[in-house]
Amino acid sequence: AAHLEAIAALNPRLNVFVTVTAERAMEAARASDARRANGIAGRLEGVPLAIKDLFCTEGVRTTAASRILGEFVPPYESTVTANLLRDGAVFLGKANLDEFAMGSSNATSAFGEVENPWKRGNDDGTRLVPGGSSGGSAAAVAARLAMGATATDTGGSIRQPAAFCGIAGMKPTYGRCSRFGVVAFASSLDTPGPVARTVEDCALLLESMAGHDPRDATSAKVAVPDFAAACARGVKGLRIGVPREYRLEGMPDEIEALWSQGLDWLRAEGAEIVDISLPHTKYALPTYYIVAPAEASSNLARYDGVRFGQRVDGADLKDLYERTRAAGFGAEVKRRIMIGTYVLSAGYYDAYYVRAQRVRALIKRDFDEAFRDVDAIVTPATPSAAFAAGEKQDDPVAMYLNDVFTVTANLAGIPGLAVPAGFDRQGLPLGLQVLGRDFDEETVFAVGTAIE
Ligand code: GLN
Repeated sequence: AAHLEAIAALNPRLNVFVTVTAERAMEAARASDARRANGIAGRLEGVPLAIKDLFCTEGVRTTAASRILGEFVPPYESTVTANLLRDGAVFLGKANLDEFAMGSSNATSAFGEVENPWKRGNDDGTRLVPGGSSGGSAAAVAARLAMGATATDTGGSIRQPAAFCGIAGMKPTYGRCSRFGVVAFASSLDTPGPVARTVEDCALLLESMAGHDPRDATSAKVAVPDFAAACARGVKGLRIGVPREYRLEGMPDEIEALWSQGLDWLRAEGAEIVDISLPHTKYALPTYYIVAPAEASSNLARYDGVRFGQRVDGADLKDLYERTRAAGFGAEVKRRIMIGTYVLSAGYYDAYYVRAQRVRALIKRDFDEAFRDVDAIVTPATPSAAFAAGEKQDDPVAMYLNDVFTVTANLAGIPGLAVPAGFDRQGLPLGLQVLGRDFDEETVFAVGTAIE
């Protein structure tokens, strides 16, 4: 009830929720109370969560923040949200995001921008972006409108908004959480995961969300460890890699200072800091912005006005497709579809798509080699703190540069955690990123806890 009150008070300004399911939430909370009274409490019993509106929720409108899905109400539940419900969680509503999770500022949502609850110290009224695409999820947690939230990370969409909103966000290993029932953006990169106030809360949520699912062919058959226990392991004796390629030209000195501070903390706790090289890092961003749009253009072909959501009638079927897609998709989604279609077209497939896949393998190999020597890698999560609403809006390339530290983990499939680690001069939160080996989220959580 307290969370719903806070939502009623703050959502009109922050625009965090696209849909608030107040009645359902109170009903679920009462059922949860009854279970507790009978001595049967799930591990997330009664915990109020926000659900990124990219997860299908049975009987509750799911929009992907796009007009093209219209009033689509899924007849089924995504595996990740079903797992959370099984463990007693209570859903407050569906959180805003960039349209089809394409963006880094939540500005591409058909439901309007989300406002970051943080303000600059010299509050001059500037509205800041919460990051994206999981901007609603991160802002909901930061503004205390939910205790945690589901999110997805295709190129940084869990870690970057977590860093911009001063909370923790975990992108697990690809295959750790089922993609079944999550609206697809780029299938070989899409990774569901949690955002929450602390690293330990992320660990608790991930334990519930993760697990093999026969309905997702890429879901991994691996046991789900006790992630929360791993948080308390400490970092004594661990070797932590610092990749020299992440020391970007012109990076703000505040970010440099934060990075050194984080490494000092780890050293003080008994970790050994090691310089490493990930030589193909500079190709990660261009590789991502070929692979992700290519897969998106294919995945989004299904929105044709026949099977789902919005339809704009036309003279014939082709005309109906064109009118529906022209009216239903926003500008950024159209840009991605055009880039994707181009790099997959017969004349350019080898020059762009095939080459990008080869470079992707080299990026993965860089990490494999590094992890022979180190147990985890620590980098900044983002190249800046949250920026002002409207900034970078007319410059897609400047917007894409935001993802420079995060896309590598998606291309390689490895886990990455954003940890709140400090503040910039204006009092805005800054985050560090911890990367780990495939399916070694435990070490990532241990390192993250030591930084936090
Ligand atoms: N900002 C990146 C993009 O726009 C990542 C998005 C994501 O992780 N879903 O593609």
